[in-house]
Amino acid sequence: MLKKLFGGLATPRIDYIPLEGRLPVPVNILLPPKVTLVLDIAMDAKDAILPKIGDTVKTGQKLTLVEDGRVYAISPATGTISAVTPFRGEMGQVGTAVLIDTAKKEDPDDQFAAAAQEPALASAAAFLAGLPGNPPFKVFGDPEKSIHTIVINGADGDLLVATQQFVVQSRIDAIAKGIAVLKRITGIENVTLAVPVNVMGGYGSIGAEVKFVDTAYPSALPHMILKDVLGKVIPAGKGAEDLGVCIFNAEAVASIGRAYEDGKIPFQKLLTVIKKDGSKGLVSARIGTPVKDILKAVGETVADRDRVILGGPMTGVSIYTLDYPVRPDTDALMIQDKDSIPFVSDYPCINCGECLRVCPAKIPINMLVRFLEAGQYQEAVDLYDLYACFECGLCSYVCVSRIPIFQYIRLAKYELNRIETAEVTNV
Ligand code: SF4
Ligand code: SF4
Repeated sequence: MLKKLFGGLATPRIDYIPLEGRLPVPVNILLPPKVTLVLDIAMDAKDAILPKIGDTVKTGQKLTLVEDGRVYAISPATGTISAVTPFRGEMGQVGTAVLIDTAKKEDPDDQFAAAAQEPALASAAAFLAGLPGNPPFKVFGDPEKSIHTIVINGADGDLLVATQQFVVQSRIDAIAKGIAVLKRITGIENVTLAVPVNVMGGYGSIGAEVKFVDTAYPSALPHMILKDVLGKVIPAGKGAEDLGVCIFNAEAVASIGRAYEDGKIPFQKLLTVIKKDGSKGLVSARIGTPVKDILKAVGETVADRDRVILGGPMTGVSIYTLDYPVRPDTDALMIQDKDSIPFVSDYPCINCGECLRVCPAKIPINMLVRFLEAGQYQEAVDLYDLYACFECGLCSYVCVSRIPIFQYIRLAKYELNRIETAEVTNV
């Protein structure tokens, strides 16, 4: 897949493989006996009100977790809460898992149906933050951000993933409805739909300006979309919202359209499954479905030392348990055979410069990596632009010494964030 353009010292180029021709039919995963809701709040948080074991919940029922309503979760199924336990995220961050034993008969909650009668940003923020696609409503409530543009990403950020492309090609009516709702509730008229360059046509009067994303990786990552599609460069350490732009993915917008159309919150998440043999397909699973149920449904087995990854091959993160659930932003599930896991080493940097040539953010990675290896994270920020990295993974991919640069970068950012949070909250 990696090809040198024009040979010699040219920058290596990897292309996305677009989803073209006949669309695959997603495999529908049956509602599992247990679903897990993961909450990014520790269960011993002082002001938390957590659901109790034995409580029954309806599909779509809002579970308020903090007294003032700031943190909530929506039950993706009808059933009984069977456990509330601490949950370790893939970087070690502590959250809470609420396990629900699902009932055979669905009992839908009607709170959102009432709110959906009159679309408003407040009701969207109050009920729809966990929709498939994970819409970033929170940013509209941030007084420090002044959002004037919405970008809908209809391309998949990582290689081999086809989730957003499939949504753009198969749910264009729902996307159009979602765009109309977003315009109405935010008052923002400036909406752009970014789609892969190969997936042209058929958008009709969708209510957004349609622009095209190049096939070269990492053109579909948010930083590159802003640069190539809107001509805006996100400064180091900032996000699109700091430039007044809010990025939704196509699935989130389609989910918003469906939610307001039906008066019901959708819970089926679409994801691409990439198997050990390299074959891939789409599945539709209830949010909260454990990874093991998906693997079983698609006939994939995981052996000792195989790697299970949420996300694609360049930016995905490996998970430590097959009980890990599908979350609103889980776009892909990838299984790597133990024999094809890329080799990493602690061999030193040989200053070959391959990473420098490939980095879209122009970071002096050969220097940065020395500080990361030594755990000197603040120096990595101050001297070598750590925060300019927007996490495409190309540096690790090309590193001659097989240094896990990308993992070092993520760890450094996580640690710096953890230290900063601890200082602010005094915990
Ligand atoms: S992951 Fe590596 S190549 Fe990509 S932006 Fe960050 S430092 Fe550059
Ligand atoms: S590609 Fe690896 S070995 Fe080469 S300069 Fe970059 S970090 Fe060093």
